[in-house]
Amino acid sequence: MTEEKSVAQSLLVVGSIAFDTIRTPYGEAPEVLGGSATYFSVAASFFAPVRLVGVVGEDFPPEYRRVLESRRVDTAGLQVVPGGKTFRWRGSYHGAMNEAKTEDVQLNVFGDFRPAIPEAWRDTSLVFLANGSPVTQAAVLDQVRKPDLVVADTMNLWIDTQRDALLELMRRVDGLVLNDGEARMLSGEHNLIAAAHEIVGLGPKFVVIKKGEHGSVLVCHCGPRVGRIASDLICPLPGYPSLKVFDPTGAGDSFAGGMMGYLASKGQYDFRDLVRAMAYGTVTASFTIEDFSVRRLERLTVEEIEGRLQMYRGMLEF
Ligand code: AMP
Repeated sequence: MTEEKSVAQSLLVVGSIAFDTIRTPYGEAPEVLGGSATYFSVAASFFAPVRLVGVVGEDFPPEYRRVLESRRVDTAGLQVVPGGKTFRWRGSYHGAMNEAKTEDVQLNVFGDFRPAIPEAWRDTSLVFLANGSPVTQAAVLDQVRKPDLVVADTMNLWIDTQRDALLELMRRVDGLVLNDGEARMLSGEHNLIAAAHEIVGLGPKFVVIKKGEHGSVLVCHCGPRVGRIASDLICPLPGYPSLKVFDPTGAGDSFAGGMMGYLASKGQYDFRDLVRAMAYGTVTASFTIEDFSVRRLERLTVEEIEGRLQMYRGMLEF
């Protein structure tokens, strides 16, 4: 994880590609482009080219594919199941909009997804296992050869229903990204820092816990344990203070995309690189939530990201 490099590295993501139907206090969006791998890819593509592995049905329209291909997202790993239907998720947000209320999930072709990593991609340096079953995530690791950095996302569903497979996966990844509720659920600890320590004790070298509008915290295990805290490095980062959250869907995946994309562009993964990468993830996600689907990201420029990053950095000076 600490190997010194200075050139951009290849980045692979495997996860869901979806039609999302979303309702927020500001409006509704039926069957818009979504999915963990979609948000991740588009966000990461601002920093590095992305190799996308996922599955869709025959109903996946060419204009959605174009959204990905018009960015630096290689869709050679996108399987299209003849006669199949694309994964569908329907959710709504209320009040402070901190959490999505899932109203319907139709796994469709995603339910039988067996990721096939194209031969030419098996040497990819950075691998992100976006939200999906830990069994599917492990199947990806069985196909890649010695990546420099493997980071996984997970969710309450898998912690609940496939805990053993998830614990096994955690011994094979360098980093885990998950939200606060999931970290508490996985670790059994209510205090988030205690939860993070518990999680790095389960295998990953670092964990990033996302706390929605309250930002994120990185805990990096970097040596033999001397008590609980002494051997770990910790960095909390605030959320970007957004005045209006239009639709929080995809914030977590965009955060991970910005973070991994930045790491791929740098080709080095030390503690301070991870913190900087989280800052880029925070800022990238702050754009995603300004519109439905990846619409804001489609209009976004690298200059806007850099501009907001400077503002964010300025806010943290004291
Ligand atoms: P988030 O970044 O956490 O807001 O993730 C939002 C995306 O997760 C949506 O675009 C959904 O399509 C996708 N999603 C919802 N449920 C699942 C699931 N069980 N597996 C994979 N992806 C999902």
